[in-house]
Amino acid sequence: MATVGIVGAGVAGLAAAIRLQASGHAVTIFEKNAQVGGKMYTLKKDGFRWDTGPSVITMLPVFEDLFSEVGRNLEDYLIFDAVDPLTRYFFANGQQLDAKQDLAEMCAQIAAIAPDDVAGYLEFLQRASEIHRITGPVFIYQQPPKVADFLQVPFRDMLKVDSMRSMQASIESLVQSPEIRQLLGRFATYVGGSPYAAPATLNVIANVEMTQGVWYPRGGIYAIATALEKLARELGVTIHCDSPVTAIDVNAAGQATGITADGIHHPFAAVIANADVLPVHKTLLPQTPVVKRRLRKLENQQPSCSGFVMLLGVQAEHAALAHHNIFFSGDYKREFVQIFDEGVPPTEPTVYAAITSKSTPSDAPMGMENWFVLVNAPAADGRFDWETEAANYKSVVLETLAKHGIDLSDKIVSETILTPLDLQAMSGANRGALYGASANSRWTAFQRPHNQSAEVAGLFFAGGTTHPGGGIPMVTLSGKVAAQLAQAYLTQNC
Ligand SMILES: Cc1cc2nc3c(=O)[nH]c(=O)nc-3n(C[C@H](O)[C@H](O)[C@H](O)COP(=O)(O)OP(=O)(O)OC[C@H]3O[C@@H](n4cnc5c(N)ncnc54)[C@H](O)[C@@H]3O)c2cc1C
Repeated sequence: MATVGIVGAGVAGLAAAIRLQASGHAVTIFEKNAQVGGKMYTLKKDGFRWDTGPSVITMLPVFEDLFSEVGRNLEDYLIFDAVDPLTRYFFANGQQLDAKQDLAEMCAQIAAIAPDDVAGYLEFLQRASEIHRITGPVFIYQQPPKVADFLQVPFRDMLKVDSMRSMQASIESLVQSPEIRQLLGRFATYVGGSPYAAPATLNVIANVEMTQGVWYPRGGIYAIATALEKLARELGVTIHCDSPVTAIDVNAAGQATGITADGIHHPFAAVIANADVLPVHKTLLPQTPVVKRRLRKLENQQPSCSGFVMLLGVQAEHAALAHHNIFFSGDYKREFVQIFDEGVPPTEPTVYAAITSKSTPSDAPMGMENWFVLVNAPAADGRFDWETEAANYKSVVLETLAKHGIDLSDKIVSETILTPLDLQAMSGANRGALYGASANSRWTAFQRPHNQSAEVAGLFFAGGTTHPGGGIPMVTLSGKVAAQLAQAYLTQNC
């Protein structure tokens, strides 16, 4: 049995801890916040409850695997219900569409808006499912890809991966209606990217959601963090909350020897960093030449987008709305230019609203709704002053909703706003970026930081800023890969 220290109790940190402890190691997690979960967090205020971070959960088998691999049944810890419709879409021209997992129902929804696009949608799904078949083993479910791995893929399959053009270009080759194009393109934002820049390979994300569904755990999204914490503690993982790590300790031979927290050196045979890789290299590791070189590479990568979040208690019930709602802007391209090129939040944003009281009435007082409102925003780089502009930007978002016929202005009885700066402070994410480096390059999958440090022996990375990327299912997989690599290292070295 070896000892492993983990920096951070986000979903990836917990997933790595569960697997390593179940394999016979003694795992200790140090978390700077008062609670586990990282970006997955819940707020109770004024009689309402909100999930303040992730709200859309896909890829259920990833969670089933985590529990079954350590001899437990997921259902004993978490009950997931399918969300139907997956999302209700409101377009700028007043049209509306309910996204459905059932293919016939989804085709009927598309036909009501753009009958000529049904065939293109089916072709889109077919191509995206091929991408999933080909890239899954290389880019998602295994250790980080090497160009050599990708070269093993048969040539005819490589072409199908569609990495040379943007998501939008691929979508536009298949469907003509601006509304269906906008709907399919929005999945770039699931990894913090732009559909106009991210490679068409990422159309796989739409396919996963549209064909495998969206899930909501009873009790709210934070129930996932609670369940992971319960499982980890049952297995024997030690979790210290309110314990910021100030250093990952490395000896003269370049080997991780432990963690410093609360001014004390805690020795470990291996260390896993669940915190954002960039601040880990900048503030937790000794500034050796190799660490500094890695840091420069990380700093040169464009960050993914951040978010502007409003948690609203709304004194009204909107029968026309669903659990997940998207209110699209009229100029989607402009939004991404503003976010990624101009560094300002969109002046006419697409607005996402999750109202969990639609599924769990106790999340809001009787006759009211709990709105989680999210607008894509640039990672904080000083070009937009959130300290002074947040209140004004709230008005921009409310005016946008009003244009869609939803006037909340005199119905808000509780309000909490989270800007990219708040998201940075809460999770330690570099510049508040939600998903690490942006996916706006065809090389992202290869450039994403590896789960094993090349600079420090015995140091591993788990989380949304490393392979295979951000989002709750992906970081759960990241925890798995980091645990496997740490296990191999411990077997060899201890
Ligand atoms: C507003 C918002 C909406 C999102 N929507 C979705 C969605 O709908 N679906 C989806 O799948 N994903 C969504 N995401 C992304 C998802 O939440 C993240 O990809 C995921 O939670 C990241 O998990 P993680 O374990 O990698 O890191 P984190 O959750 O960032 O956890 C890292 C942990 O490390 C801790 N830490 C950092 N530094 C230190 C230190 N020095 N010492 C000790 N502890 C430290 C942090 O406090 C934190 O708890 C959203 C995120 C946000 C913020």
